Amino acid sequence: MKILVINCGSSSLKYQLFDMTDESVLCKGLVERIGIEGSKLTHKVGNEKLVVEEAMKDHTAAIKHVFDALVDEKYGVVKSLDEVSAIGHRVLHGGDKLTASTIIDENVKAKVREFIKFGPLHNPANLMGIEACESLVPGKQNVAVFDTAFHQTMPARTFMYAIPYEYYEDYRLRKFGFHGTSHRYVTLRTAELLKTDKKNLNIITVHLGNGSSIAAIKNGECYDTTMGLTPLEGLVMGTRSGDLDPTVMTFLMNEKGYSADEMNQILNKKSGVLGVSGLSSDFRDLEEAAEKGNERAQLALDMFITRVRRYVGGFMAELGHVDVISFAGGIGENSASMRKLILENMEEYGIIIDDAKNDTREEAVISADNSRVKVLVVPTNEELMIARDTMNLVK
Ligand code: ADP
Repeated sequence: MKILVINCGSSSLKYQLFDMTDESVLCKGLVERIGIEGSKLTHKVGNEKLVVEEAMKDHTAAIKHVFDALVDEKYGVVKSLDEVSAIGHRVLHGGDKLTASTIIDENVKAKVREFIKFGPLHNPANLMGIEACESLVPGKQNVAVFDTAFHQTMPARTFMYAIPYEYYEDYRLRKFGFHGTSHRYVTLRTAELLKTDKKNLNIITVHLGNGSSIAAIKNGECYDTTMGLTPLEGLVMGTRSGDLDPTVMTFLMNEKGYSADEMNQILNKKSGVLGVSGLSSDFRDLEEAAEKGNERAQLALDMFITRVRRYVGGFMAELGHVDVISFAGGIGENSASMRKLILENMEEYGIIIDDAKNDTREEAVISADNSRVKVLVVPTNEELMIARDTMNLVK
C-alpha cells in the first residue's frame, strides 16, 4: 500500500510518499512560496532532484504540481495516482473534539474549522490542502492526524488554566499541547528500543526544534506538556517567547498601543532566542556567535537551557518516577552540546550523560551505564506516524 503524507503550511507544503510494505520513502518534496511570487517545487527521489519554478497561486495549484511530479516520466515513482491508496494530512488543532486520527468527512472539516480560532495560521492552510486533494482526486480517502490528539489523555489538573471556570465552559480555554505526533512517535520508539511496552515506562520526551515542547509520559500516555492553548506556551523557542507573566502583554498593549493581533505577532514571531539575541532564531548561528563572545547570543542560549531544565525537573516531580528522557527535533537530535548543558549536574536526579556516547546524531542511548535514568536520542518521524495512522484507518 502506498500512502502520501501532506503537511500544509500557510505558504509552503511538505510531502512524502511511503511504500508501507517496508515503510520506505519513495520520494519527498517541498513547495515554497505558494500564492507569492517565486513559487518553487523541489521533488527528491533518492539523490535525484526535480525543481519546478512556476507560478502556483494557491494550494490546489501546488498540489497539482506535486501530483504531476509523482507521475513524472523521469522523476515519478508511480505510473498513476490510482497506486496511491490514501492521503494523510497533518492538522494542527483538533481541540478536544478530534481526539484521534480520523477519516475526513464534512463533519471532521467543520470541527477543524471550529478550531481555527486557536490555530489561525495552520488550520486554514491544513483545510486548503485537504480540499485541494478532494477536488483533484475525488474519491481518494483523506485522513487527518492532529498535533493535539496525543495530549488528550492529560488530566484536568494539568490541562486547566487557573482562570474563572466559565471561560473553560464557554470557550474551551485550556491547554491542548502540540507536537503530539512527534511525542507519540518518540514514546513508541523509545519503548521499542528498550524492548518493553510503553505502558511500563514513564518518559520525558524533549522535542527541541524551531518550535520546542516537552511532554511528561506516564505509563505510555501523555500526562502533561509544555505547550498550551496554542504552541506559544512553555519553552523559549526560536521566535516564540514561551511562558511569561501575562501582564507583560497588557503593559505593552497599553504603553505602545499594540492591538491583540500585533501582540500575538510579537510573541510568536519576534521573541524567543531571536528576540533576546537580536541575531538569529537558528541555534547553529547562536552557538557560533556565543563562542565568539556575543553576550546576547549566550544569554539567549542560557535562557533556553534554563527553561528546558526547569520543565524536565518539574515533570520529574510531577511523574514521581522517570525511566527515560528522550531527545528529538532539530536541536535535540543534532546538538550534543545543548543536550549536555541541559542535563549537566543532574547526578542527584539519577541522570548522568556519557560524553562519548552523546557524540551522535543517530538513534542511541547517551546516558552512562550507571545513570539510573536512561537518556536517548530518538530522531522523530512524524510523517511515518501519519502514514501508519492513514493506512490503519483506510485498510
Ligand atoms: P521544525 O520545528 O521547523 O520542524 P527542526 O526540528 O527541523 O524544526 O529544527 C530546526 C532547528 O534545529 C534549526 O533552527 C536549528 O536551530 C536547529 N539545529 C539543526 N541542526 C543543528 C545543530 N547541528 N546544532 C544546533 N542546532 C541545530
